[in-house]
Amino acid sequence: MALFPQRFIDDLKQQADIVVVIQDYVSLKKAGATYKGLCPFHGEKTPSFQVNRDKGFFHCFGCGVGGDVIKFLELHEKVGFTDAVRQLAQRFGMALPELEQSDEQRASAAERETLLKIHEVAAAWFREQLESPAGARVRNFVASRGVTPESSAALGIGFAPPGRDLLKRALMKQGFAEATLVRAGLLTQREDRSTIDRFRNRLMFPISRDNGSVIAFGGRALEADQQPKYLNSPETPIYTKGRTLYGLNLSKSAIQKTGFAVLVEGYFDFAQVYQAGLHGVVASSGTALTPQQAQQLRRFAGKVVLSFDPDAAGQGAAAKSCEMLVAEGFVVNVATLPAGEDPDTFVRKRGGQAYGERLKHSQPYLEYLLDRSAAGHDLNTDEGRVKFLNEMLPIAGRIPDVAMRDLFADRLAHKTRVTEDVVRAQIRRAVSQKQTTFSPRELPNLGQVTKAEKGLIWLLIHDSDRALAALMALEPMDLKGLSAGSVLDLARKLNEDRGFSPAALLERLTMAEANLVTAIASEREPHVHDAEGCVHVIRRLRCERERAAIQSEIDRLQAQGAAERAVEIDALLTRKRLLLQQMNALIES
Ligand SMILES: [Zn+2]
Repeated sequence: MALFPQRFIDDLKQQADIVVVIQDYVSLKKAGATYKGLCPFHGEKTPSFQVNRDKGFFHCFGCGVGGDVIKFLELHEKVGFTDAVRQLAQRFGMALPELEQSDEQRASAAERETLLKIHEVAAAWFREQLESPAGARVRNFVASRGVTPESSAALGIGFAPPGRDLLKRALMKQGFAEATLVRAGLLTQREDRSTIDRFRNRLMFPISRDNGSVIAFGGRALEADQQPKYLNSPETPIYTKGRTLYGLNLSKSAIQKTGFAVLVEGYFDFAQVYQAGLHGVVASSGTALTPQQAQQLRRFAGKVVLSFDPDAAGQGAAAKSCEMLVAEGFVVNVATLPAGEDPDTFVRKRGGQAYGERLKHSQPYLEYLLDRSAAGHDLNTDEGRVKFLNEMLPIAGRIPDVAMRDLFADRLAHKTRVTEDVVRAQIRRAVSQKQTTFSPRELPNLGQVTKAEKGLIWLLIHDSDRALAALMALEPMDLKGLSAGSVLDLARKLNEDRGFSPAALLERLTMAEANLVTAIASEREPHVHDAEGCVHVIRRLRCERERAAIQSEIDRLQAQGAAERAVEIDALLTRKRLLLQQMNALIES
């Protein structure tokens, strides 16, 4: 990806009036200091989409999406950062700069090129081995898994033979240096510094960027006793785990056309679904989806359908992926499969059409959870209703959108015949008690952010100098554990590094963080007007967190027997007293 000099990006954002750009797509009306219109990212009849021209950001109060002018184009045109910048530069008649590169950057760009070339050659070589006479037993294995030669070719499946260094020799003959092959993750260095092929006697699945360049491999064991069953490339300068979705290079246009992606877990699930003609499929490779992967997907669709095995549902990677996708604002549906089946076995047994039917009759994820949990409890008894509600509350608490949350509350109320108000209030409590398994970096949720944090964030955008002066008085530890701590920490770092601006901040936030910041910045007034007051509260909150941590440590030791642990408990009590003194001093000052 091209790296533009920051000065160029800053100039571009000055030139590219966000109101002018958005007006190409949305009819905007001036309303006070901001502009309002119908959100282009979700269907609505009354405008909740706002654009702030002076500060250069947009925010939708309906679906929560927000960001700067570049982010708008990225989302609306479904392009990456580089292309969005190109389009904007063209629209506003700015010449794209020569790419600014230091020697080091040039070297690493050259290295990345070499690594890509190595992967291309290696993928072709693995493919040749599969086609060779020695690959016959592996071709048989592929056929036994119901994958046709055509699909195998489309996926670029290959074979790494059992020899110790066959790939190494083949690649070195082509002029690649041993050290570079180690950097590419294709050779493993042993203790005596000799190197051997990382992938030996494995079925090879190339992992590609969505433009088709191979950047890594997944190798499946071919013998029953071979460990691990799946061996992946390590992280390299061109491959970061959790940033690539397997198969997106093959499926992106189908996903865009149908408006949804089918998410499966394994390579063979992918192969079967793809082979059945359902081309809009991606695989998470067995782990839970990351927010970065979700962002990749969002460029092509806002809806995802997952297959669930009813026995394993509610646990594991699939459920985690569902919750993350819901939190990232995706529409998520669940297609239930018969017990013990995955897409691979299901399609092989019943065919692609039957699987397509399952997808067609898939159920919204939250509804699915509701029904599944309700079926597990006797809702005619008080006890059953309470258990059911307790199971559902944390789930409701993680729904990012208030309107959606209320809708869910009403469905809960209906099922349990409890008053809607009661359920809504309980859910609000679940939200404020942070009953969430997501880290703040992944999911800052407006409901969990303290007033002090909101105050500082509002001021960072509207009155940066005051906010920064206050923020720099805090220590990094003060921000740890705050819901929006990552945002404040980033602002601090920007200020230390190369000057802070609201635009520079917005540009570096994750999707979820940007949505949070634009939501706060769109409010008319800050929650707390004085920045010093916010800092004060944040310091006190840190003391409070530390006090709670010490207390629970004391409780733990006391449970083990106060007499034996007396010395440690005493030390903790002293620390707690000191903290309380600090807190009192903070309150008085
Ligand atoms: Zn919206």
